[in-house]
Amino acid sequence: MQVVSTIAEVRAARPAFAQLGFVPTMGFLHEGHLSLIRRAKAACGAAAVSIFVNPTQFAPHEDLARYPRNLPRDLELAEAAGADLVFTPTPEEMYPPGFSTFIDPGLAHGAENAARPGHFRGVATVVAKLFGIMQPTLAVFGQKDAEQCVVIRKLVRDLDLPVTLDIAPTAREADGLAMSSRNSYLTPDQRAAAVVLIRALRAAEAVFAGGERDPEALRRTVLDILVQEPLGEVDYVALADLNSLEPLTAPAEAALLSLAVRFGHTRLIDNAILGAI
Ligand code: AMP
Repeated sequence: MQVVSTIAEVRAARPAFAQLGFVPTMGFLHEGHLSLIRRAKAACGAAAVSIFVNPTQFAPHEDLARYPRNLPRDLELAEAAGADLVFTPTPEEMYPPGFSTFIDPGLAHGAENAARPGHFRGVATVVAKLFGIMQPTLAVFGQKDAEQCVVIRKLVRDLDLPVTLDIAPTAREADGLAMSSRNSYLTPDQRAAAVVLIRALRAAEAVFAGGERDPEALRRTVLDILVQEPLGEVDYVALADLNSLEPLTAPAEAALLSLAVRFGHTRLIDNAILGAI
């Protein structure tokens, strides 16, 4: 496995791979990330991973400075998962003095976009840059970040980027909590309480399977469970169109159910796709 930190080094390494599956990450790798790396490797025969805590997708009050990092461990895990190339740029390598071009993906209706204004502008910009640097055949993203998947799909389509997208299912802990680097912030009490996210999503799935289609009734099902957990503070519960992210106002046969809940300073997100896709 080759580990490089400059764009010039990636350019030199890239021709060795006929096909390259790429997994962009912010590091502090867990099984969710590793499942993406294995998919990239299986599909392309070679896998590249970027580890970059991208400052442009964090608002000033967010957790950029304290985002968890452990590069030596990440490199061991990435190699064991089959990575051939790891790119670990500095912020200065990605955003040199004079950098001024940003990509705004629109999709302003999305609940996560509304909760984190400017977040997806930073995500779309860094992903477009990383695609330009790595020149992957395939890029793998996690369904855990459902709104991000919609944004990246739109980015690739709108800008005609020559890359195939693959979306991997959410990897979960034994009790159902979606794996996340941010889970490491949780106190033991908060960690135990966080299982309420998957309980609420599963309740909505069951109600949907029973025939309920009214978006407000489905939202209520989720909220009623979330508010029972005193350590969690609900940021949003949203039912949206799977492609446009517009909030649903009428019964629909398919929907993206997404939620964000705070436990102290830690904000967790999760989602479920209701209905056929
Ligand atoms: P991050 O390092 O959190 O920016 O995530 C990097 C990639 O891993 C994104 O495509 C995420 O959606 C994906 N990812 C994060 N957590 C999970 C998970 N629990 N299951 C599957 N993919 C995940």
